Amino acid sequence: MAIKVTVWNEYVHEVEEEAIGKLYPKGIHGCIAEFLEKAGMKAHTATLREPEHGLSEEVLNDTDVLIWWGHVAHQEVDDKIVEKVYARVLDGMGLIVLHSGHASKIFNKICGTNTGELKWREVGEKEILWVVDPSHPIVDGLPEKIIIPSEEMYGEYFGIPAPDELLFLSWFEGGEVCRSGFCYHREKGKVFYFRPGHESFGTFYIPEVQQVIINAVKWATPINFPELVRGMVDPIIDFTPSGDFTSVH
Ligand code: ZN
Repeated sequence: MAIKVTVWNEYVHEVEEEAIGKLYPKGIHGCIAEFLEKAGMKAHTATLREPEHGLSEEVLNDTDVLIWWGHVAHQEVDDKIVEKVYARVLDGMGLIVLHSGHASKIFNKICGTNTGELKWREVGEKEILWVVDPSHPIVDGLPEKIIIPSEEMYGEYFGIPAPDELLFLSWFEGGEVCRSGFCYHREKGKVFYFRPGHESFGTFYIPEVQQVIINAVKWATPINFPELVRGMVDPIIDFTPSGDFTSVH
C-alpha cells in the first residue's frame, strides 16, 4: 500500500513575494508532493491558513509521515495543533522537518530545547553536504556528497540535542559547517531533520535533495507495533511478593 504523506507548508513566501511564487508556482508543498507522488507515494498537502492549518485529527490520523516547512510564521501555528502533531509522532507518525523548520514549535517540542538556533547568512553560496553515515537507509542511492550551487548558510553551533543518528555534515563556501541531516527517535515515532531548502534557491528541484526526502519518508513510515502500555501493571510472571517494603535483602 502506498505511503500516505502530508506535506505541510506555511505557504507565505510564495503568496507574498512574486519571485518565490514564480519559483514554486504550486508552493513548496506542491513541488514536494509532486515528486513524492512520482515516487509512488500518496501525497496530501496542508497549509497554515487552512482551518486547523489543514491538520485536522482526521488528516493526522490518516498520515504515515508528515513533512514540515515553515519560516516566517512559526508563531502563528496554534499550540493545540502542535500538541496533536506531537502526540501523533509519539504514536508512530513519522516527521520530516525541513530547513527553517528548525525554529518551528513542533521541532523545538521534539528537541526539548526551545532554542534550535544557529548562525545564518542569506547571500547564495555553495553548500556541500557530505554523507557521514554511509550505512543509513536515508542515504540509499546517493553519492558521497551532494553539491548545491547556491543556498542559504546555516552554521554551528546549532542548538539541538545530540542526534541519535547523524547523516549529513555541510560545508559552506564562507567557511562554516553544520549538522545538516539527522534523526531522532521519540517513542514510536521517527524524526528526520534536513537542512537545505531555502525558499529562494529552488533547492527542492535538485534530484539528490528529492532522493533524500523520498528515502526519509520510507524510513520514517511507522512499523507495526502494539499500543504502548504504561502505568501500574500486574506481573507477567507469577511470583509471591514478600509484602515487606522495608526489606534491604
Ligand atoms: Zn531559509
